[in-house]
Amino acid sequence: MDIVERFKKYIAFDTTSDENSLTYPSVSSELEFGKILVNDLKELGIDAYIDEYGVVYGRCENGKEKTLGLISHMDTAPTIAGGIKNPRIITSYDGKAIKLNDKYTMDPKDFPLLNDVVGDDLIVTDGEHLLGGDDKAGIAIIFEFAKYYVSHKNEFSYNLAIAFTPDEEIGKGALHFEPSKMKADLAYTLDGESIYEANFENFNAASAKVTITGVGVHTGMAKDIMINSALLGIEFNNLLPQDMIPSKTEGYEGFIHLCSFNGDVEKTTLEYILRDHDKNLLEEKKKMLLSARNSILLKYPKAKIDVLIKDEYRNMKDYFIHDMSAINLINKAYLESKTKINYLPIRGGTDGATITYKGLPCPNLGVGDFNPHGRFEFVSINQMKKMVSILIEMFK
Ligand SMILES: [Zn+2]
Repeated sequence: MDIVERFKKYIAFDTTSDENSLTYPSVSSELEFGKILVNDLKELGIDAYIDEYGVVYGRCENGKEKTLGLISHMDTAPTIAGGIKNPRIITSYDGKAIKLNDKYTMDPKDFPLLNDVVGDDLIVTDGEHLLGGDDKAGIAIIFEFAKYYVSHKNEFSYNLAIAFTPDEEIGKGALHFEPSKMKADLAYTLDGESIYEANFENFNAASAKVTITGVGVHTGMAKDIMINSALLGIEFNNLLPQDMIPSKTEGYEGFIHLCSFNGDVEKTTLEYILRDHDKNLLEEKKKMLLSARNSILLKYPKAKIDVLIKDEYRNMKDYFIHDMSAINLINKAYLESKTKINYLPIRGGTDGATITYKGLPCPNLGVGDFNPHGRFEFVSINQMKKMVSILIEMFK
C-alpha cells in the first residue's frame, strides 16, 4: 500500500473527537481505529499494541543503543464532519481556483498557501468534510517511513518507536501518553503544517479569574453608597494595556485575552487567559492584573476583588535551551536533504510541550497539511513524500 492509498484509507475512518465526552478516548471509533493501526503496524513487521487509554505504541529495534520516537494523533477536530469517503486528487496543481463542490471553491486569493504548492499533487475535500490530514497525514508518513525502516534496518543508527494518541484536538492528546511505554531518547510529533517549518517553542500559559463584589442598593438612594461591580469590571479591564490582546499581537508578542465578562451590580467575573513565550513576561502579565486590582481597591475601598491565577502549560523551549540534541538532529536531516528549515514559535500549546515536560524531549515537525479543521483543508502529496525522505536522513 503506498502513502496515498494508506492516507485515503485512514481519512475515510471517522475519528472526530468529542469535547463533551467523559470517556478516554472520547469516542469509541478512536479505539476501533487504533486497533486497525495496530494490525497495520504488525503487517509491516512492527511490534504494536493499544493500551487501555487507546494510545497505540509500536516498536522496531535494530540493536542500536538509542531510540527515536515518532508521534501523531488519531482524532480529527470536532469543527466539521470527518471520515471523508471521496477526497479528490489534483495532479500537478496549476495555481488556479479549485472547485470543491457546487457550493464551495478554494481560491488562492483567499487561501494564499495554495501559491506555495503550485506544481504539487494535492488531495482536497468534497466541500462537506474536513480532510483529516491533521493528523492522518502524520500517521501515513510514519507508516511509509516504518515500511522503509523495516526493510533497511541496518542503515539506521536508532531503534524506531511509534505512538498514535487519541483526543489531541480536545486538548487531551498527551494526558495518558507514557514516555515509559514509548522508551525513546528523543521524540517528534508530526503534527505541523508546511514541512519547511518546525517548532520547538510554544506559549507559556496561565489563566486568571477576577471576581468583583460591589454594593447594591435601590438606584433612587444610591448616591455615595452603590458600588456597581460591572462598572468596576470595565474599569479593571481598561487598566490593562489595550494593545496586548490577540487581535493586535503576532510572532513573539504575548497577550492578555478577556475570554468572558459576566456581571451585574453585586457581582462581576472576568475570565482571562495570559500567554507569552517568555516566562518572565508572563509573570509581568500576572503582575499587571494584580496591580489593576490594587488600583481599583484604592479607589473603591468598599469593593471586594479577587484575582485567582492558575498556571496552565509551559514553553518547551526552556527545556531545549539546555539540550539541543533533538533540534540538532532535525538540522542534520534537513541539511542532508538539502532542504531549508524554518523554526516558528507556536502561538498556542502543543502535545510535544507536555511530552517534553513528562521527560521525553519532543519538538514538532510538519506533514504538508494546510488549512486544517475545515472544508478547505488540503495536503500536498509531494510534501508528505518529502517528509518520509527527511525522516530517513534523521534516523541514519
Ligand atoms: Zn493536529
